[in-house]
Amino acid sequence: MNAAIIVAGGSGQRMGAAVRKQYLEVLGKPILARTLMVFDQCPDVDRIILVVPPDDYALCRKQVLAPLNITTPLILAPGGKRLRQESVYNGLEAVEPGAEIVAIHDGVRPFVASVDISRCIEGAKIYGACMLGVPAYDTLKQTDNEATILRTIDRTNMWLAQTPQAFSYPLIKEAHQKALDEGFEGTDDASLVERLGESVHVIEGSRNNIKITTPEDLHLAEALLQHRS
Ligand code: C5P
Repeated sequence: MNAAIIVAGGSGQRMGAAVRKQYLEVLGKPILARTLMVFDQCPDVDRIILVVPPDDYALCRKQVLAPLNITTPLILAPGGKRLRQESVYNGLEAVEPGAEIVAIHDGVRPFVASVDISRCIEGAKIYGACMLGVPAYDTLKQTDNEATILRTIDRTNMWLAQTPQAFSYPLIKEAHQKALDEGFEGTDDASLVERLGESVHVIEGSRNNIKITTPEDLHLAEALLQHRS
């Protein structure tokens, strides 16, 4: 049994909108609804745990879930107040103990392809941990706090991390528990597994799998959808 944790527990402050970004509509449908539809269609996902702020359960059921007709069993779990990592932790607590693979995905990445979710889950079965990424094509610069370049980073073998990131369930549970116990805050789940000294495999995803974060991203999302249809 494979579970997907879709985290949509954030406040979406960088979007600057009154509605949290995961509920904003792109061409008539909430971003989160579009993400859920892809996971519902993926044959390798048996359960969905949707993590949303606890105050949003009713809103989410009414505006996102009711119109969708999702057939994959789905439960809600409470989002963490501050960190994405807390939301994932809560999602992991809600996974059935016998689960084999858990794929963790940002609710605000609606353009992930079902086939790439499957590839990632397959990768986790082989390697224990596997994530989607895209090669860094731009030149990478590190600066000081005044934005003066300190150095240029060789971009060979540099990847931009995306989601889903999929793991064997015991491994990701252990990684999150250790991070919590030691007060470590990572910006993705793979980094918590790396801390255990375990390898994480990367498979190349699509540049269309954007994380909708700022108002500019919303325009890009609309353009991507229009291009698709
Ligand atoms: O804030 P950021 O863009 O990194 O958020 C990535 C994903 O993590 C979003 O889908 C957001 O809803 C989720 N998140 C969460 N709980 C938080 C913060 C972010 O589930 N406390």
